[in-house]
Amino acid sequence: MAWKRHFEHTVKTSRRSEFLDITGTVEHDIAESGVNEGICIVFVPHTTAGVTINENADPDVRTDMASFLERLVPKDPAFLHSEGNSDSHIKTTLTGPSLTLIVSGGKPVLGTWQAIYFAEFDGPRSRQYLVKVVEG
Ligand code: ZN
Repeated sequence: MAWKRHFEHTVKTSRRSEFLDITGTVEHDIAESGVNEGICIVFVPHTTAGVTINENADPDVRTDMASFLERLVPKDPAFLHSEGNSDSHIKTTLTGPSLTLIVSGGKPVLGTWQAIYFAEFDGPRSRQYLVKVVEG
């Protein structure tokens, strides 16, 4: 990867809706940045994918979140958007496009049961996310 003032990553998703654990990559970026105390921003530059934090222990939680969001926001013929993926846009707005993490001791401050998830809502496809680490 060419050096920039932020890190860029590509992920390959394999289902229409899924949550991919990106915690290890974010931790690696923070270590690579050399920042010991500061903040880390994770940003997803898409309108049908986002980022969130949730449980890292039981993978059924991720499956339940994806399937519940499918039931909460089903494809609806009443949606006007011509691409036919308004449900994906709505789920993305529910999740959000970015996270701000506290960095302490060169690591993101996360609860014992927390992981960082890339949230796909219109896969499978190739996606990007950006990580910026700021000292302070
Ligand atoms: Zn669309």
